[in-house]
Amino acid sequence: MSDTLYIVVPCYNEEAVLPETARRLGEKLGELTASGKISDQSRVLFVNDGSGDATWSIIAGLHRADPRFSGVDLSRNRGHQNAMLAGLMTARDRADMVISMDADLQDDINAVDAMVDKYYEGCDIVYGVRSAREKDTFFKRFTAEGFYRLMAFLGAETVFNHADYRLMSRRALEGLAQFREVNLFLRGIVPMIGYITGYVSYERGERFAWESKYPLKKMLSFAMEGITSLSTKPIRYITLLGFLVFLVSIAMLIYSVVRWANGATVLGWASVICSVWAIGGLILLSLGIIGEYVGKIYLETKGRPRFLIREVLEERDEEAL
Ligand code: UDP
Ligand code: MG
Repeated sequence: MSDTLYIVVPCYNEEAVLPETARRLGEKLGELTASGKISDQSRVLFVNDGSGDATWSIIAGLHRADPRFSGVDLSRNRGHQNAMLAGLMTARDRADMVISMDADLQDDINAVDAMVDKYYEGCDIVYGVRSAREKDTFFKRFTAEGFYRLMAFLGAETVFNHADYRLMSRRALEGLAQFREVNLFLRGIVPMIGYITGYVSYERGERFAWESKYPLKKMLSFAMEGITSLSTKPIRYITLLGFLVFLVSIAMLIYSVVRWANGATVLGWASVICSVWAIGGLILLSLGIIGEYVGKIYLETKGRPRFLIREVLEERDEEAL
């Protein structure tokens, strides 16, 4: 018998796209089942991330009409990464392989076939990698590419042009479950799992309805999250900066001693105030960055749950498992 596939889709206020997304994913699931690639226990699992609109009632309706659609309702909005994790962890003990993708189907769902093929070839993780960014606006492309570069520079290794569209086997998900961090950045953590890895490239389309839920502000906080949860390099740069400033101040000291010996006038008030400001600013900046890490330690030690599930809708044939 063929293996069971779960497609996990986090949804936050997606009432506009959900019916169409469900139709396309249902079709895809049907195709794969008919060709015998996946078992008839395969499901699409929608995770409602505390939406304020009709998202959950649409999911419940889909589930009533077709048992291949399952749903997980989170207690409140926890963000894309946590919603995805909730879905992955729910699917973990039900599926042999799980594919995660966004509700707007910007990721070409036809890449699913290739991902499943790679899974049967023995891959535990298959990354969907975007081959072109032409359809994005210049601003989005620029910020996204800058994001990858900055991340790599600051020591957070991620797969280039890979969003969260990927296949993971049950074994890889068991691995993921052992990463207990609260500051979740899946794109950085998944490569740490290891195992046999494959890549499938696809073209990313435009969001087919509604606007993106990742405005610049969220993207910046996502980048900050990624860097501070994966690397401590920023602290090293701060130390380096402090060292350089120290060297400069020694040079200035020598310079002023030479000026004084030559009988030039005493340095003025302005330069003193300037250096006070410079040092003050540097100290504040350093403290802020150290504070980021201290804050993370604080959150990690609390060990708060990363998500709470309010309700699970699903229909399973227990015997077939
Ligand atoms: N999403 C979520 N919780 C949030 C924000 C977004 O579950 O707080 C979901 C959203 O429904 C979508 C995915 O995360 O399925 C990606 O969001 P979006 O398409 O807005 O981001 P972009 O494609 O612009 O990066
Ligand atoms: Mg999107």
